Amino acid sequence: MQYGPGRNFVRLAVRLAWPFIRAGKRLSNFPFLKWLIYPFFIRPYNEVSSIPLNIEVQRPENIAMPRRVVKRLLANVDELFIFDECICRRHNKVSSPPQDIGCMALGPAIRRIHPSHGRRATQEEAFRHVDRATEAGLIANVAHVWIDPVAFQTRFHDLMFICYCDDTNCLYRTHMKNRGPSLQGACQRLPGLSVRVNEDACQGCGTCVEQCFLGEIALIHEKAVIGDSCAGCGRCVERCPHQAISLEIENEEALYDDLVRWIRGVSNLPIQCEEKGR
Ligand code: SF4
Ligand code: SF4
Repeated sequence: MQYGPGRNFVRLAVRLAWPFIRAGKRLSNFPFLKWLIYPFFIRPYNEVSSIPLNIEVQRPENIAMPRRVVKRLLANVDELFIFDECICRRHNKVSSPPQDIGCMALGPAIRRIHPSHGRRATQEEAFRHVDRATEAGLIANVAHVWIDPVAFQTRFHDLMFICYCDDTNCLYRTHMKNRGPSLQGACQRLPGLSVRVNEDACQGCGTCVEQCFLGEIALIHEKAVIGDSCAGCGRCVERCPHQAISLEIENEEALYDDLVRWIRGVSNLPIQCEEKGR
């Protein structure tokens, strides 16, 4: 088996590319210039669904359903790889959230990922990794984006990633707030997941407006209003000081089925079928 590039090569590439990425990010603030970076963020080469791991869902029961959905997915995938480090947090030299909560790669393409990046993992190890990410306040992003197969020299359709992101270091999340409206298709809310504001509880403080990585919350008549392109990441729910925002999922089965359908639609990831009615 021939492996893709090792860790030191990828670290160097990231270090060299970072200034260009930041420049692109700044340019994306200007009308017209945002079109320069537009091709890097469109489907089908860039699709991400956020899963708010550490948010309690209000309906149908008060439970950590999103975390369970991620674990269900991992339980039905045979080939898992855990990266030893988060490239973004390492590059920014932060210790919190921990650098060693890296992404996970899923699918046959992991056979080509160089062992210096991390390790193949069992489902139990993957579950523990999800628990650590949750306890660290990270958000899971199920991602099918062009940069991963380029970096690790794997086939695009044989690879999915689950990245564990924070708001200040993640290259992707920090980029999206500065995007032009044309980049919205890159982040999708999981079907059946909704984010609601309780107007009576909202104090109009604006905290959620600052925290939304997509810039999808506006204050209208001093009440928070969620935009149509909200990705359902749950950060505003977590950060609202007045518990005025909640996350609702209509039906876990439907949400899981939609997630699997989406992954199957964008990749060749083999996902085992579950026995229903467990
Ligand atoms: S953070 Fe909460 S209270 Fe403040 S504006 Fe947003 S929803 Fe309203
Ligand atoms: S509105 Fe809230 S849940 Fe939606 S993308 Fe923004 S921070 Fe995430």
